[in-house]
Amino acid sequence: MRGFSFGMSSASRLDPVPLRSRSAGGCPEASPALATRAFPIVRGDRRSVADLLDLASDVADRCHSAAPDVDFEGAFPEREFGWLAEAGLLSAPLRRDIGGLGLGSEPGGTLPLLRVLKRIGRGNLSVGRLYEGHVNALLLIQQFGTPEQVEGYAADARLGRRFAVWNTEAKDGIHFEPSGRGRYRMRGSKTFASGAGHVERPIVNGALPDGGWQMCVVATERAGSAVIDPSSWRPLGMRASASTRIDYSGVEVEASDLLGRPGDYRREPAFSGGAIRFAAVQLGGAEALFEATRGHLKATGRGDDPYQRARLGEMAIAVEGGNLWLSGAAASADEPGADPAAVVAYANMVRTAIASICENVLGWAERSVGAQGLLRPHPIERIGRDLTLYLRQPGPDAALAGVGRHVLESPLDAERLWPDVG
Ligand SMILES: Cc1cc2nc3c(=O)[nH]c(=O)nc-3n(C[C@H](O)[C@H](O)[C@H](O)COP(=O)(O)OP(=O)(O)OC[C@H]3O[C@@H](n4cnc5c(N)ncnc54)[C@H](O)[C@@H]3O)c2cc1C
Repeated sequence: MRGFSFGMSSASRLDPVPLRSRSAGGCPEASPALATRAFPIVRGDRRSVADLLDLASDVADRCHSAAPDVDFEGAFPEREFGWLAEAGLLSAPLRRDIGGLGLGSEPGGTLPLLRVLKRIGRGNLSVGRLYEGHVNALLLIQQFGTPEQVEGYAADARLGRRFAVWNTEAKDGIHFEPSGRGRYRMRGSKTFASGAGHVERPIVNGALPDGGWQMCVVATERAGSAVIDPSSWRPLGMRASASTRIDYSGVEVEASDLLGRPGDYRREPAFSGGAIRFAAVQLGGAEALFEATRGHLKATGRGDDPYQRARLGEMAIAVEGGNLWLSGAAASADEPGADPAAVVAYANMVRTAIASICENVLGWAERSVGAQGLLRPHPIERIGRDLTLYLRQPGPDAALAGVGRHVLESPLDAERLWPDVG
């Protein structure tokens, strides 16, 4: 594996930009001003993938210790994003020629990316979810942006600005309506917008007048009149992901904010293939449950019991099985000249297998630890809530059925259906 190098430009302060937020009763509240941050810069520093993974582990450990502090509605992991920035992880998904580490954006970069995502998920699933959105946005920008957009947003990422992708919506979804002079007026809302009010550069998708599905980077500087509804995020878990509804009605954007062409967001295999990233974060949650169960059995002296040992054995097999799925996922995503349909089917297998691993590990953890694991402040209580919600990703039945359809239609022998993981 090639060595990665860090290269960040000089840090600057970010201007606080207010977004209005609405209380449950519909009254305007104080604006959640964006933090001003400044990060240390590392120039000409070459680090190996192993170094990067160590940094991610360190961030994950800190996130794990701090997770109870941000386990409440209205929270956002501000400190945790500072740690990600200090470790160079916010710019790491950029190509090396624009100051990143090629994580997920250069050949051979998918496996390190999945390992980093798993580690961050192990530390705190909400941070993992937010970081995965940040990574996804930077990959979309590098894939579909103009050279000017790539350069500008890469500079933002190097300065520690946060990105996201907000695609999900309800019936009152986003429309971009031409308002003259190359501008568009937005109408409608996004739901499940992770980090709303805290992310400076979200990609917000919506419909053009002809129905085309368009990506648009709506910088917070443009979105002063957007309204966040905190009452829309009263979840079982994943509280710190701040995945609220945000209403953009009346916000105006420029043609230069539009990213790519209509339909680019759903282009395969990147669209469905991206599921391997959330699966990696989810697997981090399963690993955290495994660790918490091991720790509990050691601390309580219940590890000699054969049933407990058998369950721990099952958990170890399941988590390591997930790691092997990540290796397969990376081999499939990075295979030169791969059949896009096979890449999508493999990603669907990965997300389905890892979801099942996570559900099994959660059940084993709860049975091994018992009621103690369902009482705060036991970490299994929190991680279990987070994982239960984060496992709910779009179209799980369709993902599994897609695997079945692919293998039925493929003319290849079973042995040659998938990439050789080696
Ligand atoms: C913590 C968290 C953060 C999130 N952050 C973001 C974000 O930042 N940006 C963003 O865009 N989204 C985000 N999302 C939304 C996410 O991507 C999914 O859209 C959402 O979680 C879908 O979950 P669901 O269970 O409702 O899925 P669904 O797809 O509705 O699945 C529910 C069930 O219905 C079935 N089903 C689905 N479609 C059909 C159909 N047509 N007919 C019959 N059955 C069907 C499924 O197989 C499943 O059994 C977030 C979600 C969570 C939980």
